[in-house]
Amino acid sequence: MISPPDRDRYSRQILFPGIGEKGQESLLRSHAVVVGCGALGSFHAAALARAGVGRLTLIDRDYVEPSNLHRQWLYEECDAAESLPKAAAAARRLSRINSAISLRAAVADLTPANAEDLLGAADAILDGTDNFDTRYLVNDFAVSRGIPWFYGGAVGAYGLAMPVIPGRTPCLRCVYPQPPSGAQPTCETAGVLNVIVSAVASLQVADALKILSGHPESVAARITTLDLWEGNIRQIAAPARDPDCPCCGRREFPYLEESARPAATLCGRNAVQIHERVRPIDLAALRAQLEPLGEVRANDFALRFLSPPYELTIFADGRAIVKGTSDPAIARSIYAKYLG
Ligand SMILES: [Zn+2]
Repeated sequence: MISPPDRDRYSRQILFPGIGEKGQESLLRSHAVVVGCGALGSFHAAALARAGVGRLTLIDRDYVEPSNLHRQWLYEECDAAESLPKAAAAARRLSRINSAISLRAAVADLTPANAEDLLGAADAILDGTDNFDTRYLVNDFAVSRGIPWFYGGAVGAYGLAMPVIPGRTPCLRCVYPQPPSGAQPTCETAGVLNVIVSAVASLQVADALKILSGHPESVAARITTLDLWEGNIRQIAAPARDPDCPCCGRREFPYLEESARPAATLCGRNAVQIHERVRPIDLAALRAQLEPLGEVRANDFALRFLSPPYELTIFADGRAIVKGTSDPAIARSIYAKYLG
């Protein structure tokens, strides 16, 4: 039963026939996990908290920086000034938006080792990540456990969203059997418009609300792409599930094995090595992407990029050394920031 104050608070949402009182009760009992609290994730978290989703787990390994503020809706100048971890800053802000819900802030890199703890009790998982390593891990975990998850990405003015309902719609590996090869454009190299973020995140949250309010049948198996500068919005039916998909067809979940992670190991006193096995990098193309952002030195074998206080050395096979930190999570984050 909904309490009288909650009935008032959520009255406009209860009036919406898609939700109704039963749907609101269901939202209040639900648990959503937001993986990555950057641009997409901070929007997801705010919308879910305002909608009354009763439990939120927020996962992020990064700190708030001034360059986040133009698109990361939850954060304020003081968060950047304090270099607060995003998960902690998000939880602080959300507790003022909705003091009745339960919030868990995990300042962590999602890994095979902590996936059960962080994702295991989720009714829905929202993708706010900036890299395919984490998305494939989320996909393997969600499909293995039958948890709906909502893929989204945005860069420039372009974005894409796709729901994954295990057993019913294609999973990420049905659509993209392998992670993309080479360096992908990222918000750091190609820039991003703040409204594409909220548009993509809104599509993800809308589908999550259908699941959490008890209307899974309302989630359509489709891929939506948007370019808000060109003004193009397209929806295509998602391809059929691949019966031979290694993940949802054959039920092999290699991304849940710790050995599948690109190893990030301490390397010297203040450096971390990241080893990606299957990711050849076009160093000339990467040089062109990074040169506007800082000092780049390159030869045929490696490229060195200075992003103070860090120095990133990237090898043609995708391996990299991040100097300036001894924390593998920070090193992985810097790698993902510039190489996708
Ligand atoms: Zn699949």
